[in-house]
Amino acid sequence: MFNSIKKISTKYTGLLIRMDDITECMNWEYMNRCESLFDKYAIKPLMGVIPINQDPELLNFPKNDKFWERVRTWQSKGWEITMHGCNHLYTQRSDKKDLFNYGGNSEFYGLSYDEQLLKIKTGLEEFKRRNIKVRSFFAPNHIYDKNTLKALKECDIKIIIDGYGLFPYFYNEILFIPQLFYKEIILPFGIQSTQIHLNYWDNDDFNKFEKFVEQNLNKIISYDDAISKVNKGLKIGVINYLIKNILKTKRVFFN
Ligand SMILES: [Zn+2]
Repeated sequence: MFNSIKKISTKYTGLLIRMDDITECMNWEYMNRCESLFDKYAIKPLMGVIPINQDPELLNFPKNDKFWERVRTWQSKGWEITMHGCNHLYTQRSDKKDLFNYGGNSEFYGLSYDEQLLKIKTGLEEFKRRNIKVRSFFAPNHIYDKNTLKALKECDIKIIIDGYGLFPYFYNEILFIPQLFYKEIILPFGIQSTQIHLNYWDNDDFNKFEKFVEQNLNKIISYDDAISKVNKGLKIGVINYLIKNILKTKRVFFN
């Protein structure tokens, strides 16, 4: 067992930088600083863009009127643009029967299939209108139900950057790239994404992140790297299963 874990660990290690709550109104000071850092080290993060943000909390942050131009620039640099909900409004509440049994507020949970399909279509149309290509999704607050997955598949979105596990895995014909920690912690092996909320950062957070990036450059991967490392093998399935329940109890909640 140990040897096979070691073999897998050498081949399959990587961390995708997932940036959350990217929208017109956000903490642009830290976004600018992160962009310089990413450019310096040729890092290609995954940008979780809210296409039609209506979340009152997020609307309080400074607005960038040239937001979509900026998103197109990111895309032209090879950064991956992903859809983070449609309007980021928490109109729903999960009773812990959601996909990951988290419970908590949601934009999608409990809505009918048609309502969720409309939300996803509306969001995707906004990206299309702005000339942005989108191949993946992650929901606000990690909350999904079966209709969310069905609606995503109907719109040909079959990759979600969320969930438990040490490695990407398939569930319900969707590839999940797990997102394990709020803080950027590198495990000895595995392929996961971070979640980074710039809106709550101060100078100290940025400095820590910069140091973390510089110390882990060889482990930071792009979206395409993560997809190419996908392995549906039994060993990975077993390890994912073993680790799932341990992590479930230790998870830090953040939307
Ligand atoms: Zn969010």
